[in-house]
Amino acid sequence: MFDVNQYAVVADSIADAGRFLYERGWSPATSSNYSARVDQDHIAITVSGRHKGQLGAGDVMVVDIQGRPVQSDSRASAETLLHTALYQVFPDAGAVLHTHSVNATVLSRLVPAGELLTFDGYELQKAFDGVETHETAVTVPVFDNTQDIEALAKDTQEWFLKHPEQPGYLIRGHGLYTWGKTMADCLRHVEAFEFLFECELATMRVRP
Ligand SMILES: [Zn+2]
Repeated sequence: MFDVNQYAVVADSIADAGRFLYERGWSPATSSNYSARVDQDHIAITVSGRHKGQLGAGDVMVVDIQGRPVQSDSRASAETLLHTALYQVFPDAGAVLHTHSVNATVLSRLVPAGELLTFDGYELQKAFDGVETHETAVTVPVFDNTQDIEALAKDTQEWFLKHPEQPGYLIRGHGLYTWGKTMADCLRHVEAFEFLFECELATMRVRP
């Protein structure tokens, strides 16, 4: 069982996040999925296929930390296991956001296979939890896209157990995953990533 009042609070935070992310154009065409922790064993997550700018009470459901629905007949997001994999690795994570922006999609296709995306020298790197200076590079892995979510969940979990300092990851041609202690932290991480993606792509356009 989970606390219904706590669930209502985090479900609201998910709907608010959806309105913001949809407005910014980062969650088009019912793509993306968002989650927030209800307690140690329960996660509130968006129901599959819902419009992310218009999330209401019926568009968020509870799964356990293994991704199984709790007291719900709805179908959780297809990528639920990617969320629960992160909550298992990061016990202090309170929210996980997955977005499908143009810039994340384009940039993820430009990073050569086997290489990390690296941000270096940007003041805004300090928006990520634990980053105190622009002088430390922030690196982001890019996983190949797949419809085998179980395998990808396993790969991402193994990766972040070894690289817990990295604040997010990209799926090639698909989108961004990032997390935070609170929904506000997590939204700040999405915005920071989007700013950095934009800077990288703008640099590529003007570089001779
Ligand atoms: Zn996705």
